[in-house]
Amino acid sequence: MRLILLGPPGAGKGTQAKNLTEAYNIPQLSTGDILRSAIRAGTPLGLQAKAIVDRGDLVSDEIVNGIVSDRIDQEDARNGFILDGFPRTIPQAEALERMLEEKAMKLNAVVEITADAETLTRRIINRAREGAKTSGARADDNEEVVRNRLNVYREQTAPLVEYYRTKGLLKTVDGMAPVEEVTAAIMQAVKE
Ligand code: ADP
Repeated sequence: MRLILLGPPGAGKGTQAKNLTEAYNIPQLSTGDILRSAIRAGTPLGLQAKAIVDRGDLVSDEIVNGIVSDRIDQEDARNGFILDGFPRTIPQAEALERMLEEKAMKLNAVVEITADAETLTRRIINRAREGAKTSGARADDNEEVVRNRLNVYREQTAPLVEYYRTKGLLKTVDGMAPVEEVTAAIMQAVKE
C-alpha cells in the first residue's frame, strides 16, 4: 500500500498516519519528523533547515525530494509507505512521480483530510500548549507561525488536490470526525 496523506497543518495527518502504519504494517514517512530530528541532532541538513521550519516556510524542493528518495529506498518501505507532509508543492509531486516510476512503484491513493480553518488553528495552538508542559513544544506551533503555515498550505499545497483529482487518485475524508472514525473512513476510501 502506497498512500499520500494530504491536508492542512492540524488536519490530523500525523495521527492518522500512525494509525494506518499499524493497520497496514508499513512505515510512516513524515518529512516534518525527519527535518525535526535533523534539527535536534544538529546535522548539516538540520542546520540548513532550522530557520525555515521555525518560520513555517517550506524547505527547498531539492532538499525534501532527496530526503524522500533516500527514505523510500530503505528496506522497511519495500512493501509500501504512508507519505505525510510530502509532496507539498506541484514540483515535489512531479519529482515523486519520477522517483516512483524509476523504482517501478505505484501510488494506491492520495487521501485529502479536510477540516475548517478555525478548528485547525485551535488544534495547533492546543498542541503548542500541551507541548510547552512536556517540553515537547514545536517552535513552529505559535500563532503567528501557524497562520503562515496555513497560508503556505493554501498557496503552495492546496493545488495538489486538483492535481491528484485529475489523475483519478484523490479520496476526500472529513477530518472533523473522531480520530478512529477518520481512520476507518480512510481505510474504506482506499478500498473503493
Ligand atoms: P504540519 O504539522 O504543519 O503539517 P510538518 O510536520 O509536516 O507540518 O512539517 C513541518 C515543517 O517542515 C513545515 O512547515 C516545513 O517547514 C517543513 N517541511 C515538511 N515537509 C516539507 C516539504 N515536503 N517541503 C518543504 N518543507 C517541508
